[in-house]
Amino acid sequence: MITIDQPSAMQAWSDAEHRRGRSVGLVPTMGFLHDGHLSLVEIARGRCDACVVSIFVNPLQFGAGEDLDRYPRDEAGDRAKLEAAGVDVLYMPAADAMYPDGFQTAVTVAEVTRGLCGDGRPTHFQGVTTVVAKLFNAVRPEVAVFGEKDYQQLATVRRMARDLDFGIDVVGGPIVRDADGLAMSSRNAYLSADERSAARVLSRSLAQARTVCADGERDAATLLSRVRAMVSAEPLVRLEYASVVDASTLRPVERVQSDALLALAAQVGKTRLIDNTLLTAA
Ligand code: AMP
Repeated sequence: MITIDQPSAMQAWSDAEHRRGRSVGLVPTMGFLHDGHLSLVEIARGRCDACVVSIFVNPLQFGAGEDLDRYPRDEAGDRAKLEAAGVDVLYMPAADAMYPDGFQTAVTVAEVTRGLCGDGRPTHFQGVTTVVAKLFNAVRPEVAVFGEKDYQQLATVRRMARDLDFGIDVVGGPIVRDADGLAMSSRNAYLSADERSAARVLSRSLAQARTVCADGERDAATLLSRVRAMVSAEPLVRLEYASVVDASTLRPVERVQSDALLALAAQVGKTRLIDNTLLTAA
């Protein structure tokens, strides 16, 4: 595995791969890697000849008072995991290579970024699309893989790639969970033992809603009130939102008719966690 830290060097490497007829897959991350990230690497390796993983803790996608300054990092551990996973390039640009003095451009996606996490984090998705557009232009991949855990991010990046003619296939990977059901996240490292145990209520409440829906309950308000009741029984967990939305437009729905997404965000101590599940009316 080689490490590249400049956009121009990244482009040169990728152009050379393409000249040799090799396709390139990209997995963008913020590091502190876990098996959720590595599952995306597997998908990228299965679809492309070469695999690039980027690690960049993107200041633009953190709001004031969020965890940018304490975001967990483990460069040595990340490198070892990526080497073992057969990654070809670790792209790790420095902040001043990404956002040099005078940087003043942003990429904005409108509707899909409203609601859900967009309400509580009004500048977040613009930060994501701006950095992902830069990563796409540096890596020039054929395929980019994003986790369904950040479902709204995946939908937003898909929209951007289509709207701006990136010609990149944006692929989603399923949520990877720990044995206790908690969706893997770099931010889980912030949780105390008590908080971690309490946080399990999030995946449990989603699983319950999925079962109740499969048993015939299609009313979104009813499903959501069950989720809220279950989560509110955990004093360490404060629900920020729980919503049932259309799985492609992300607009709220009153009934689960075709594919719907039940998504939630919660504060567990100082840690903000998200999770979701698809609901099907089939
Ligand atoms: P992050 O490093 O948190 O920005 O995440 C990088 C990529 O990994 C994003 O596309 C996430 O959606 C994805 N990801 C994070 N956690 C998981 C998980 N538990 N399962 C699947 N993908 C994940």
